[in-house]
Amino acid sequence: MDHLSGLVLDILLRVRSSYYITEDADGQLPDMECFGPLRHSCYNRLGSAGGGVSMDSDGQHRQEVDLLLVGGTVITMDARRAVIESGAVAVRGREIVAVAEAAELMEQYSAGEIVHCEGDLILPGLVNTHSHAPMSLLRGLADDLRLDVWLHGYILPVERQHVTPEFSFLGTSLACAEMLRGGTTCFVDMYYFEEEVAWSAAEAGMRAICGETIAKYPTPDAASYDESIRYCQDFVDHWRGHELIRAVPAPHSIYMTTPELLQASHAIAEEAGVPQLIHVSETLDEAESLVSETALRPVRWLEEQGILEHPLIAAHCVHVNTEEILLMARYGVGVAHNPTSNLKLSSGIAPVTEMLRRGVHVGIGTDGCASNNDLDMFEELRLAALLPKVATNSPVAVPAADALAMATIEGAKAIGMDHLIGSLEPGKRADIIVVRGDALHTRPFFATTPRSVYSRLVYTSKARDVRHVYVNGRNVVRDGHVMTVDLERTLDRAQDLANEITSFFVQREAAILDKLVDIAPLEQRETFEVQAKGALRDEELFRRGLDHPEVHQVAHTSRDQYDTYFLFDGRGPQRLRYREDQVLMPDGTIQPIYNLTLTGPAKEAEYEHSVVLSRSRYTATADRSLRFYREYFAPEQEVEIVKHRERYHIRYKGLDFAVNLDCVKEPKVAGPFVEVKSRTWSQQDAIRKAGLIGELLAILGAQPEDMLPADYADLFTESDQEASPS
Ligand SMILES: [Zn+2]
Repeated sequence: MDHLSGLVLDILLRVRSSYYITEDADGQLPDMECFGPLRHSCYNRLGSAGGGVSMDSDGQHRQEVDLLLVGGTVITMDARRAVIESGAVAVRGREIVAVAEAAELMEQYSAGEIVHCEGDLILPGLVNTHSHAPMSLLRGLADDLRLDVWLHGYILPVERQHVTPEFSFLGTSLACAEMLRGGTTCFVDMYYFEEEVAWSAAEAGMRAICGETIAKYPTPDAASYDESIRYCQDFVDHWRGHELIRAVPAPHSIYMTTPELLQASHAIAEEAGVPQLIHVSETLDEAESLVSETALRPVRWLEEQGILEHPLIAAHCVHVNTEEILLMARYGVGVAHNPTSNLKLSSGIAPVTEMLRRGVHVGIGTDGCASNNDLDMFEELRLAALLPKVATNSPVAVPAADALAMATIEGAKAIGMDHLIGSLEPGKRADIIVVRGDALHTRPFFATTPRSVYSRLVYTSKARDVRHVYVNGRNVVRDGHVMTVDLERTLDRAQDLANEITSFFVQREAAILDKLVDIAPLEQRETFEVQAKGALRDEELFRRGLDHPEVHQVAHTSRDQYDTYFLFDGRGPQRLRYREDQVLMPDGTIQPIYNLTLTGPAKEAEYEHSVVLSRSRYTATADRSLRFYREYFAPEQEVEIVKHRERYHIRYKGLDFAVNLDCVKEPKVAGPFVEVKSRTWSQQDAIRKAGLIGELLAILGAQPEDMLPADYADLFTESDQEASPS
């Protein structure tokens, strides 16, 4: 909340609280005219919202309802999968009161508003079981990257910089507008400042399960995990009993939390009687590293922690085996299947066919806009039907009706809301969409089998075919226009923010250091070193030099070094070195050490005997793969050098020096080489040490005419830039 002044916030909350819709004691919704901030959404409403009986002009006694959707093909998605040609749905307040043939309901009810749907399809609103709504603001920010580069290189840095309460509110408004427009009436969310997500969704008139992210790392809304738990508890308390919003804890994933955090989150969920959300086995790597650490598969591990005892909505579940699927079925874990996101990030294809066969409730999700890049449930629906056909080599896997079920009733079951939504049945909430049946791409159509209507909807209908949307009885989209979100203002502000993020990236991409800071736990060591390197004509001279009476050996190690230099022609003189050191330990084992060093620009000064003063700006432990850094930094040029190094720490005339005897193996060059270096702190000290390095080189057998550039990379590149030593 630190981004809003207390006063503004206070006013905002007070204004909003007047729109806060809760159930009355008798479970009735307040009068529709007071429902929400945008009264114009109730236009064209005639008559009262009561449930009385009136006598019409034809002298018939009819029960009063608020709304009759009549004349379309009603796809109920009830247990019998009933489809009613020329059907109708009667709605009173927030509830569906009847679903039957149009003629029958017209006979039985008198409606405040009659919406004619001839030729259209009337079905339950779509349920998006996994999303990160505010990420709609990051749509298209970084595409065609591997998950780790995408997440750690782009998404997390931008989230650290830009995610504020306003970001979450605005992004959710944009997401809700897109989802509503495309027929989604309920979504499950997981993000930061989820309080704002909830407000925004409620104002847009959407139903949502809002999950506050809990992670072991600092997040945009919590500096520590204690804070994250506290925020979550307050958030869950604040929204208890709300008509549209369920506030829940969302521990991000097994790898982003700890067993203690999961327990704390579990306790909040249990006490409030709400489910938890979590990402499970999205990537193979994630599943395999847990197995190598704990010897347990992720779902088994969650069972071990007691997490499955309480309702859980697990996103992805791409890499789960049969044992895990059986566990999910046994504990009633709901799965959110995210076809586009799994394809785009190359995570894999979830074993949906097996999950469905074994009785797991699987819903469909869009995931966040940064990995999709839209919130189009029609697209997901179609992929959810197509992907299993490829995965199982069977065109009969997941037929259209089953795919639609995943987007409606099965999705509702997966998130524990099938008693309220997911099908068109009396007593359920009126979350209804009307999809036009006369679009060019849907014509002609057949009714050869009862399944035809599902094929039509799943394989040909588009999000843009959605005509009307009702959530909780409220008309939120009419004739394709979203009535609950100020689109012009939302889009303007979203573009402003996108422009700010663009300049942040333009700046960062130009500076290798900034890119490094964004991903590495850096020890900023601005070390100054004096050093010199020369070709060695006689190794024997070097060995004898080490026995010189004034040279005292302190330590010695032997190692193979694999260096990869990234060169950035257009981006300044820095170069980045990824080094893998294979150190031979006294017990004969090999200990690998990985580090990154950003060097440059160039040498600071040069003294006698080609001794240069250089500085190494940053070193960091390289905790990711070389492949990650290569894809993230995208260097213009790479140089690889493999060498064997005998490293000696010596004292000479009371000062410490490092002496390296290097044998370069790749690329092949004549050697060996000797290198002498020492840390330094001042110009004076550097000059003194430069003189001593000259003496040492002579003792160790390197001739002045054999001196070389300080950096091996310079021996093997065309580049005329000079950089600091290896
Ligand atoms: Zn996700």
